[in-house]
Amino acid sequence: MKKGNILISACLVGINCRYDNEIRRYSKIIQLADTFSCIPVCPEQTGGLSTPRTPSYIEKGDGFDVLAGKGRVINFKGKDVTDNFLLGAQEALKIAQLTRCTQAVLKERSPSCGVKYIYHKKTLVKGCGVTTALLLDNGFTVRSEEDVD
Ligand code: SF4
Repeated sequence: MKKGNILISACLVGINCRYDNEIRRYSKIIQLADTFSCIPVCPEQTGGLSTPRTPSYIEKGDGFDVLAGKGRVINFKGKDVTDNFLLGAQEALKIAQLTRCTQAVLKERSPSCGVKYIYHKKTLVKGCGVTTALLLDNGFTVRSEEDVD
């Protein structure tokens, strides 16, 4: 009997959705599936972006500011992709609610999935990504892969 459902950043478990087309597997996250039902999601893909894709960053503030309309997400070619990130966050929330997840484990430092840190262009700053902010706003417990033992 599993202990519940966890939403997982899909790139943590070997799904090919990273911006750079690299496949990475984090064994401690894959092992979570022994205890929990894991629901992988990639908000940037569900927001309509391709793999591979030009990487993006939150221009100023963090995911909460983007949700509030006070911040933008820009890719490294200068294109405003805020709408993709907002759509992806909404779709991730929908999946989390439909599958009765109560918690999430997301990829640190991503403009969608970062939990404690994100980038402002090339500078690492404290703050969370857009999907993380929306999940937190909706009562989910969110940890990064770095906080899973
Ligand atoms: Fe997709 Fe999030 Fe992984 Fe980025 S960090 S590839 S948005 S799942």
